[in-house]
Parts: sequence; structure tokens; C-alpha cells
Amino acid sequence: MYEDFASNLAVTMWADFDETPDRDGSTPEITDLDTVVIDGNFPWTIVTVEAADGTVGVGEAYPSPGVHEIVTDYLRPVLVGETPTDVERLYYLMRESLSGRGSQWGVGTIAISGVEIALWDLAGKLLDQPIWQLLGGKMRDSVQVYADCHAGEAMVSSAEEGQEESTYEPEAYAQAARMAVDDGFDAVKFDLDVPSGRTLNRKSRHFDSPEIEHKRRIVEAVTDEVGDDAEVAVDLHWNFSPETAERLCRAIEPYDLAWVEDPLPPENTDAMRELKRRVDVTLLTGENRYGRHGFRDLVEEQAVDFLAPDVPKVGGIAETKKIADMAETYYQAVVPHNIGSPVATVATAHVGATVPNFVALEYHAREVPWWEDLVTGDDLIVDGRIEVPDGPGLGIELDWDAVEAHEKVD
Ligand SMILES: [Mg+2]
Repeated sequence: MYEDFASNLAVTMWADFDETPDRDGSTPEITDLDTVVIDGNFPWTIVTVEAADGTVGVGEAYPSPGVHEIVTDYLRPVLVGETPTDVERLYYLMRESLSGRGSQWGVGTIAISGVEIALWDLAGKLLDQPIWQLLGGKMRDSVQVYADCHAGEAMVSSAEEGQEESTYEPEAYAQAARMAVDDGFDAVKFDLDVPSGRTLNRKSRHFDSPEIEHKRRIVEAVTDEVGDDAEVAVDLHWNFSPETAERLCRAIEPYDLAWVEDPLPPENTDAMRELKRRVDVTLLTGENRYGRHGFRDLVEEQAVDFLAPDVPKVGGIAETKKIADMAETYYQAVVPHNIGSPVATVATAHVGATVPNFVALEYHAREVPWWEDLVTGDDLIVDGRIEVPDGPGLGIELDWDAVEAHEKVD
């Protein structure tokens, strides 16, 4: 039923759209779309787009319920028969087909993002060009990757029984930072909205002075440990009110952090801009925004220093590049959010290679020992950097045996 509905809608909307170019038949048409979910530290949602000659493009959508249904029931009937190298036109076609049902934000945009990445991979393979070349060429051969570190739950799972309470102490964070730096990363990030062992009224987002001091001691311990070996950032996950965020930022100003991420809830740009005017830290936000329109006020109001679009969520590769280009008009930088598999990570690396104002992209799977096994060939991340692949499309090949071995089966 959904398939009929989507097909009818597409026909209704596009039958008279006479500006659509005719297919010349030189490129094999799209024949199928599908998804497979890998059971990683998040449910990594791989999206595939197949062409008539058997070439398969691979993308990744942000982990979210409903992606499979949108891709197979709504977007498949819209894209089958289309020319896969028309990535930008098909992006608008997908957005129009989901108009009113999530093409501006949320799971609709997430599903579109996964398909868009797969289309770029497919287009690159059909044209025998890397994505960075299709985007206009690369500005750097490799991109910096920063390590998301945990000294909380992730360490608890591997800690000896009875050691759990110590994992939220500053010394545990310093130890985790040292491990990441020893692995070659020269930028690390920690969650700072972590339990201190005290009972709090968290819903108010107000934290008292002892709680602020707990966070300051974590920052002090980590920065003391790594010194000049690595930049240190902290993530606050939208958990603080403006007055508490201001007090916390002031407390950690002396430690010269790379950035402070998401101190306030994500919806109110005015509140973020006001915080930026009041504190002397580098502020970052963006992983909960969608599309270039979702970033427009953050740029125009210069509400933060760094923007963190998530490629498999925000709209995909080209949308992220457009956000970076828009940010560049105010000399803001992009530091893309990423919790994905190698597919999402390399897709993000291609964008990072092609825009001037890229700083680093996130790597969030240090606790998944088989992350590198999902692709054939050499390790992707070496000494905290990814050499941007030169092969066609994303320039990586999924190891489908490894994908199957780790497939999430409901
Ligand atoms: Mg974050």
C-alpha cells in the first residue's frame, strides 16, 4: 500500500514537470534500494542503491527507527528507473516526494541522507571518479579524526567487578585520554555531563557549585595528562541551562579546550548566541540540526564558532558541503559529528577533504574492535588521520561477510 501511495504521489507531482531532462540511456538506471543494519555500538544503518549493470552504491543513514520503511516503501518507487549520476536532482526529487512527511527534518531527512551518500558512491563508481573529485577536488590528502573517549559506561563494561564507581573520577578520564593519545590521536573528546555520584535535579538543568567543580576537575585531569600531545574537547549533550552553562564555561576557560559542545538544548539559537557573547570558550553545536536551512541562523547570528553537521542525518554529502560553504562566509569551521560505521566516516572524510574550513571529524567506535574489519584493505584510521581514498565513489569496499557476521537481526 505504501509503495502504491508513494508511486502515485510521485506521478502526481512530477508527471508535468517538463524541465526534467530526458534519459539518454548511457548510464544504467537505478533498479533497487535496500538497507541492512550492523549491530555496532549504534545500529549502523547501511543503505544500498543498485544500478541495472549490477553496480551497487553504499551509503549510511543515522541510526533511527523507520529508515528501512522510508527507503524501501517511499524512496525506492521514486528512484527506480532514474539516472543515478543525477545526484543533486535526485536529492530534490526525494525531498519533494517526502514533502510534508519529514523531508525538512527528522527521519525523512535521515533516510534521504543515507540514499544520497549511496548515490554519490554509485555515481563515482559509474564515472570511475572518487567523490572528492565529483565535489570539485580535494584541498587536503588526509583529514584529521578526533577520538570520542569514554570513562563512564564504556569503561564500566570492561572494568573489573567493583571498580565501576571509580570510572567517573577525573583520574579515569585522564587514563582514557592517555590511551587515545598513545593510539595516535591528537584530538580527543569527553562527555562532561556525567554522574558525580551526587543526587541532582537534572530536569532543571541547574547544577550547583560542587557539581561544576566535579566537571572542572575532570577537565583539569585530562588536560594535565595530555599536555601538548592532544587537543581536548568536551560534550555537554544539551544538559545545562544558560546560567549553569555560563558558570561551567567560566570554570573551564583556563584549560584552553578545543571546543565545548552542545552546552544548551538545541532549539534556541538566541540562547546560544547570548552564551557565546558571555564566555571565552570555543562553542560547537549542530548534530541535531537538519539541512542548510537548519544551520542558517547559527551562521547568520554567529551563534557558535564550530558547526557539527552529521552527514548521514543532515541531508548527506552535498548538503554538508553547502553548510560548510555557508559557514565559510562568516569564517566558521565545520567539525562533523559522526557515530557511524566506516561508510559514514569515509563519506564525511570526502566532504572534509573538499572544503577549506574543515577541522576534524569524529570517530566514536574505539570500543568496537571489528570496526576496521567492515571494509577490505588497510586500516582507514592511522595515527588519528584518514587518507582520503582515491578509488571510485567512496573508495572503500564493504566486506559483506563481516557485515553479515555483525548484522542486527530483530
Ligand atoms: Mg555531541
